[in-house]
Amino acid sequence: PRLANQIAAGEVVERPANIVKELVENALDAGATRIEIDAEQGGVKLLRIRDDGHGIEHDDLPLALSRHATSKIITLDDLEAVASLGFRGEALASISSVTRLTLTSRAQHAEEAWSVHAEGRDMAASVTPAAHPVGTTLEVRDLFFNTPARRKFLRTEKTEFSHLEETVKRLALSRYDVAFSLRHNGRVIHQLRSAERTIDREKRVASLLNKDFIDSAVHIDAEAVGLQLQGWVGLPTFSRSQADMQYFFVNGRVVRDKLVVHAIKQAYRDVLYHGRHPAFVLYLWLDPKLVDVNVHPTKHEVRFRDGRLVHDFLFRTLHKALGDVRP
Ligand code: ADP
Ligand code: MG
Repeated sequence: PRLANQIAAGEVVERPANIVKELVENALDAGATRIEIDAEQGGVKLLRIRDDGHGIEHDDLPLALSRHATSKIITLDDLEAVASLGFRGEALASISSVTRLTLTSRAQHAEEAWSVHAEGRDMAASVTPAAHPVGTTLEVRDLFFNTPARRKFLRTEKTEFSHLEETVKRLALSRYDVAFSLRHNGRVIHQLRSAERTIDREKRVASLLNKDFIDSAVHIDAEAVGLQLQGWVGLPTFSRSQADMQYFFVNGRVVRDKLVVHAIKQAYRDVLYHGRHPAFVLYLWLDPKLVDVNVHPTKHEVRFRDGRLVHDFLFRTLHKALGDVRP
């Protein structure tokens, strides 16, 4: 039953941000090192996501748009320790059913690129030749053009774009090894080179989030009891509204979790005598068997096998790090 729920939940295309998440995750799954995202009118009029991944073979192109056609094999065992981000095989089918979609790709070692087009449920019968380097471009136009009732739930261009940008931020914060660019209505919003060294990662965080945050942040790099924590926590000297600057990744995936926030706030309170709006960008790494991050594909929930262990590790690590730099 859990597997069925996960598959059903994959249906959800509510707004451009959801589409960007699915398409960027596909690009990452394909081993892309560079991902370019173009949006027009908040992503409602146009989304174009281009990657330099391994591409799709000619014969597989129409298949990629059909429901439950995943090249990422599913077994319940795989779900226990899911390595690739996509495992439902229906993002492209869902997206193509509510947009005008063009998928263009050139597979590694292939001589030519090919393209398929779909408008709503209608898919063009033919795969046509195209010009494209190795990799894939998904072009998605006119979201909900065929479902006016759903179009009504879209917000203003500004709001849709801010959701989209937030999604891109999370993805860019989860893969420093990949170069990202984001353009809106032709304007460059983010341009991020791949970042190996800590200093380059800090530049990415500064440019995505806030320079003051990273300038005053405490760098975390700790390991104990099989758990690893890396990243940055802000000091209270960074006083701008920080309520929304809370990014926590478990094995590379962003999560929202009460236990995590509780442990962090408690460390702040203990060391600095208040726990108001801590700002953090933190990465927790642990054995995938000790965590279930696929409770729901869009809600970012997480379930630790041993919540107490994780809580204590986070609390102790941050307590020490903050204590070391306490003014
Ligand atoms: P899933 O990612 O769950 O397998 P999707 O509907 O997102 O399902 O994608 C369907 C299939 O299309 C993928 O399994 C993959 O084989 C192929 N695909 C989609 N996007 C890309 C891409 N950017 N690069 C290479 N292959 C892709
Ligand atoms: Mg996918």
